[in-house]
Amino acid sequence: MVYFGNLKAKKGEIHINKDRCKGCAFCVEYCPHDVLEMSEEFNVKGYHPPYIKDEDKCMYCQLCETICPEFAIFVTLKDEEEEGEKSQSRS
Ligand code: SF4
Ligand code: SF4
Repeated sequence: MVYFGNLKAKKGEIHINKDRCKGCAFCVEYCPHDVLEMSEEFNVKGYHPPYIKDEDKCMYCQLCETICPEFAIFVTLKDEEEEGEKSQSRS
């Protein structure tokens, strides 16, 4: 039997720079967990940027960040996980 130890699913925190977005919807279409959706609002360039529909489903795969042609979206590891790792390393 394989032992995975304390392997925990990663959680992402999504950051969208709405005004860099060109509204291509790649991030929405290719997110494997259906986390994002295009909004009805307009940014300064007149495009519809995405919004975060359900951040809890984000698994920090960073695909959205990788495929965005405008560098308008990026993902960081959720703080609670980083805090958990820090407290484990202190003990
Ligand atoms: S990091 Fe992955 S799961 Fe999270 S929003 Fe981007 S594509 Fe979706
Ligand atoms: S991939 Fe980038 S430019 Fe395209 S909709 Fe998403 S955030 Fe906007």
